[in-house]
Amino acid sequence: MNILITGGAGFIGSHLIDKFISKKYNVIVIDNLLTGTKKNLDPFLKNENFTFLNLDVQNHIEISQDLDYVLHLASAASPKAYTQHPINTLKAGSIGTINTLGLAKAKNAKYLLTSTSEVYGDPQISPQPETYWGNVNPNGVRSMYDEAKRFAEAAVASYNRIYNLDTRIVRLFNTYGPKMKINDGRVVTNFISQAISGEDITIYGNGDQTRSFCYVEDTVSGIIKAMESDSSEVFNIGNPNEITILHLAEKVISLTNSKSQIKFVELPEDDPMQRNPDITKANQKLNWYPEVLLEDGLIKTIEWVKKSIH
Ligand code: UDP
Repeated sequence: MNILITGGAGFIGSHLIDKFISKKYNVIVIDNLLTGTKKNLDPFLKNENFTFLNLDVQNHIEISQDLDYVLHLASAASPKAYTQHPINTLKAGSIGTINTLGLAKAKNAKYLLTSTSEVYGDPQISPQPETYWGNVNPNGVRSMYDEAKRFAEAAVASYNRIYNLDTRIVRLFNTYGPKMKINDGRVVTNFISQAISGEDITIYGNGDQTRSFCYVEDTVSGIIKAMESDSSEVFNIGNPNEITILHLAEKVISLTNSKSQIKFVELPEDDPMQRNPDITKANQKLNWYPEVLLEDGLIKTIEWVKKSIH
């Protein structure tokens, strides 16, 4: 099995590689290391089934091997990262998606796009099923990410309709776990590193906003099930256990036995008020359901953050 992963040096990509290499698949990674980390690839570099290409998906891609799958993950994905790299984010989602679709078409490979819960914007219904079209600010401060991924979905749907390309789309909701980038501003890593170092825990707004956090092992098993499935469809992949950000802060403080205080700061513009995936479809069609409890996943992530910052 030959699998090409764009964005393989990132958090979720590197967990996928782990799974594929353990199954003796041949893995080719394309990453420009803008937000991905070379360190995530170090364990695989000497493996004969692994190839790393330091390329940008914005450029035409030539691969000599046959490919069975193309998985397009490459994109800045945290609000801090995509705000810092807006044009690159737009290009990875648009030109990068077209280039990777073209590659899959040329190789007659199956294609998977990792889309995002951000396509729902600040949702007006909850939980969000795949049939919901979203409530997105088309030129707001998150638009470079939201609209790039919406464009990417449209491109995948078009290649599927016009060329009969075997495609699927997974909409990933908030994911956490070991190998997350610690300084990219995401709430789980921010809270854990603040709690460990005794700094104030920064809650944006009053902490009433909700998110649903999925442990990375569960996210990865959902992606693989979607990849291996025959249905050219869209699947929400996330954990339906919705909690407020205030509750998350309290949980992190208690699990780390921290003396940190909670500090309320300004809520960023267009920060979605709620996120909760309806995963009925993935459950029924992929037989997938997340298994890791938030507390267990947080304990593992805390251990990992402690090791990484010392
Ligand atoms: N957040 C927070 N404090 C932080 C970082 C984030 O209160 O130090 C909030 C943020 O405003 C958002 C939620 O946590 O409501 C999740 O933010 P994150 O950046 O992890 O991802 P998002 O789900 O917004 O893409």
